[in-house]
Amino acid sequence: MDTIIREISDTIEDAETFLTAGEIIKNGGLVAFPTETVYGLGGDALNPASSQKIYAAKGRPSDNPLIVHIACMEDLPAIVKEIPDTARKLADAFWPGPLTMIFEKSDLVPKETTGGLETVAVRMPSDPAALAFIKEAGGYVAAPSANLSGKPSPTSAKYVEQDMLGRIDMILDGGDVEIGLESTIVDLTSENPMILRPGYVTKEMLEAELGLIDLDKTMMNKDTGAAPKAPGMKYRHYAPKGDLSIVEGEDEKVVSYINVQTALLEAEGAKVGIIATDENQEKYCAKIIMSAGSKTREEMIAHELYRILREFDDLDVTYIYAESFDTSGMGQAIMNRLLKAAGHKVVHV
Ligand code: AMP
Ligand code: MG
Repeated sequence: MDTIIREISDTIEDAETFLTAGEIIKNGGLVAFPTETVYGLGGDALNPASSQKIYAAKGRPSDNPLIVHIACMEDLPAIVKEIPDTARKLADAFWPGPLTMIFEKSDLVPKETTGGLETVAVRMPSDPAALAFIKEAGGYVAAPSANLSGKPSPTSAKYVEQDMLGRIDMILDGGDVEIGLESTIVDLTSENPMILRPGYVTKEMLEAELGLIDLDKTMMNKDTGAAPKAPGMKYRHYAPKGDLSIVEGEDEKVVSYINVQTALLEAEGAKVGIIATDENQEKYCAKIIMSAGSKTREEMIAHELYRILREFDDLDVTYIYAESFDTSGMGQAIMNRLLKAAGHKVVHV
């Protein structure tokens, strides 16, 4: 299949491109598009065949449900059984934006889209290009991240091309995304709202609207023995090619541990990459060091993490050492993704 690639910069100037992209979706095709979180791989959420195509293009297990993207609040009632008050509050506060909410689904949403579940995940993104595209596509776009299953989510169109060229009909290239980590997911189908996946909208921000909120216990720990409530969280997502370890402890000990390991591995001919912070990057002696930003700027670290993992893949790095980050605020989302990428391999020094 030939993949059409179109750069987009302005929703009015590029109206015809959105029209073409929308037609592709209505005809059962697939289009990758930018959102403020990461690039999405879109298909018609109400067409079972489109959802099956999404799973095939990504190589994603079909029990891992897709998020349905909408462009306006008026389109929500048709796809859910009811809208709880909690959801209205969160929509007022965070939509459009990087928050996904789980509802009981209506009959309009096929099981192929929800991975066989009776619930549906819904998000209204804030990226103007995403909104323009969803409108032209008929209002309901099922979209997981536009990467091959198991690879880091794409934060720019060039990574979508790496994974999806020849596998989908079109890529809308809107440059670099703003946030760089997937949306926060909150389940509103049980009595107590629960965070299933941390993201840019933090626990603290949600609690300011709803009061105390539960966290899915499997989110940050490997050995709870329980299955995560978001089916997709059980898979080892975001995995780089290299063997990634997170090193936790005081800065000086972390740096010296990593330097010793690097010296040993590089002496054996291995290619070692370091995910550092601005504060420490000068102290490492590895050949490949990339800083994700200052420890004091979590949103920067979130923005850089997947890009660095992808760049290490391109460089065929065989071992990766990452500094560890605070788990308050957005740090929770950063550590959740990093722990998954590392298969929970953490060294305490
Ligand atoms: P992605 O689209 O790649 O960001 O992944 C979507 C995430 O949302 C996966 O972890 C899914 O398991 C989760 N998800 C989607 N729909 C549901 C649902 N109905 N209930 C729980 N989790 C869901
Ligand atoms: Mg994904």
